Amino acid sequence: MIGKKLDFETVSVRGYSGGDKLTGAISYPIYQSATFKHPELNKSTGYDYSRTNNPTREEVERTLCLLEDGIGAVAFSTGVAAISACIHLFKPNDHIIISEDLYGGTFRLFKDIYSVFGIKASFVDTSKLDEIKNSIYENTKAIFIETPSNPLMRVSDIKEISYICKASNLILIVDNTFLTPYFQKPLSLGADIVIHSGTKFLGGHNDVLAGFLVTNNNDILSKIKLIQNSIGATLSSFDSWLILRGIKTLHIRVEKAQENALIISKYLNLNLKVEKVYYVGLEDHIGHEINSKQSTGSGSMISFRVKDKSLIPYILKNLSIISFAESLGGVETLITYPFTQTHSEIPKELKDKLGIDENLLRLSVGIESINDLLNDLKSVLED
Ligand SMILES: *Cc1c(COP(=O)(O)O)cnc(C)c1O
Repeated sequence: MIGKKLDFETVSVRGYSGGDKLTGAISYPIYQSATFKHPELNKSTGYDYSRTNNPTREEVERTLCLLEDGIGAVAFSTGVAAISACIHLFKPNDHIIISEDLYGGTFRLFKDIYSVFGIKASFVDTSKLDEIKNSIYENTKAIFIETPSNPLMRVSDIKEISYICKASNLILIVDNTFLTPYFQKPLSLGADIVIHSGTKFLGGHNDVLAGFLVTNNNDILSKIKLIQNSIGATLSSFDSWLILRGIKTLHIRVEKAQENALIISKYLNLNLKVEKVYYVGLEDHIGHEINSKQSTGSGSMISFRVKDKSLIPYILKNLSIISFAESLGGVETLITYPFTQTHSEIPKELKDKLGIDENLLRLSVGIESINDLLNDLKSVLED
């Protein structure tokens, strides 16, 4: 790597290596090999077996590590595999504070899978520092946040929470899927671990599943590498290559999607059938100020509540450009119904408390023509 630090856009396009040193291939090769031969006893090319290490996976790990300003990154087969590996850092009776409003699959991992192994979790409104402080016990070991959160776009103050963590010797984990390192770099704000569902903006084309964990702590990195190799949910070389290809256009895609999202959020805000819009880019959004302080953008995730829930089936059936599908962060605009889809795992009482109700829809705004997207929304939200 060149000594001088390159700009984000350049690293995105070139990746860590800027192509293949051996052949000059501009596109980093897909090393589709399970195993690697050794020149002689006790000698290795650095690659032995692809679960342990694979050149294409290493390239995507190093690229993401540069983009997130970490010291190491580890790639997994899905986002939840990355979160799962992260939870393996803890042991029975350890307690973790988690944003109460977050990806439903993360909630399910703590509630249904790791509670059996004695890992304790409290689901807390991490946008409120006092609630965090009141939830720290003797056995608390970490705080896991999503900001902006899913689906209500609550914003948690990464730097302030990192001070709380330092004072109580806790690990701060930030799921940075929504804003990506282009808009937000949690490690430089005091976090210890960044998680990604690479399936979303990093891949960007709704065609691959992937997950990442990036850290700036050597001890955590070596533990995570051991966990990755031992548990085995590693990213395949082909999928690593798809993520490398996706990352090349990350900055262009997320800028364009954000531009579309701001226009759509303003349209929804004025629409008479819409009761409330949740988008951190709107100045009256409750987390707008903190988000502006800690990131350089608002991303392209919008949730909104319609006044009349009987409109929901009509909207989901009659949109024609916007697809009714789970997931987010791709070039295609998707609409999701959190109540029965992404957040079906959240218990009814918590859904009620959070406001994840039958009137709530979530949009992942893509990079299509804004006119076509607006016309699509108008066709279902105007008489
Ligand atoms: C999708 C998602 C995950 C899970 O990632 P998968 O790749 O689907 O396993 C985790 N966190 C957030 C914020 C997500 O949107």
